[in-house]
Amino acid sequence: MNQNSSVAASILQDAAQQSYPVSALYVLATPIGNVCDITLRGLHVLAIADAVACEDTRNTSQLLQRYGLSKQLLATHEHNEREAAAKIIERLQAGQRVALVSDAGTPAISDPGARVVDAVRAAGFQVIALPGASAAVTALSASGLTDARFHFVGFLPAKTRQRETALQELVALQAALVFYEAPHRIVETVQSMLQVFGPARQVVLARELTKLFEHIHRCPLGEAVAWLEQDANRQRGEFVVLLEGAQPVEGEDAEGERVLRILLEELPVKQAAALAAQITGQKKNALYERALQIRQGAQEDGDA
Ligand code: SAM
Repeated sequence: MNQNSSVAASILQDAAQQSYPVSALYVLATPIGNVCDITLRGLHVLAIADAVACEDTRNTSQLLQRYGLSKQLLATHEHNEREAAAKIIERLQAGQRVALVSDAGTPAISDPGARVVDAVRAAGFQVIALPGASAAVTALSASGLTDARFHFVGFLPAKTRQRETALQELVALQAALVFYEAPHRIVETVQSMLQVFGPARQVVLARELTKLFEHIHRCPLGEAVAWLEQDANRQRGEFVVLLEGAQPVEGEDAEGERVLRILLEELPVKQAAALAAQITGQKKNALYERALQIRQGAQEDGDA
């Protein structure tokens, strides 16, 4: 046994010595790509669980096989979460340990799981979290974005109009924004972001994290579509998209900026500023100047 494997064995032993109560649900994060990104505690709980509730039984049985495990699997997906929760509760009543996993990453994060956890808690049973990989946090940690806060959005609506309306609501937020996106929609989503946020904001396209073709690209939004279109491979795989948050704008608060941007979608500058002043109670002149800047920025984007 080399030094590394003896360290791993002794930590696995530590994991085994902790207490893992029966009649408990274990919410267990699994890898988002690289099969080695399971925690030792997660592995131990998979080994001692009486059953594993999972999104897709084929995926999870393959994952378990990689770790040399075979378990009873309970299909628990977005279409049967309530019924699955009832079956899980029966097992907890019988004194079992049940692990809850999704296809990849952390359950209940843009994945099924929250309803099961809610029902198990309501039935009075213990829920124990086993933390691990999540694509959102993985992307943020390697992005270099320096925003002090982040706001998790997950998947945006598929239709352009609804997507852009959802994005409008985020324009003034002073926090890095975190999105999940599928490869076939990545270009149109980034186009919508450009439309709503303008070309200057930094975007991070984090693709295939922890996998063979992992790539993290950061650039101004104005350059992102061209970058994606330069090579078809850049549009393949799974994506986390991050946008830097709004910078504080001197002399006006975030609410004024948000209201102004919504009104400018439909109204001329003067009218939008007057209405925004009425709605927010802020100074009309300051809002008017800001409205001119926003409109001018939008025109420059159109000309570019
Ligand atoms: N529960 C998962 C988590 O904790 O991250 C997310 C599940 S959600 C259904 C799947 C989406 O997460 C993908 O469409 C993609 O946007 C993102 N994702 C998952 N794995 C990824 C990876 N390895 N690289 C980049 N994005 C990933």
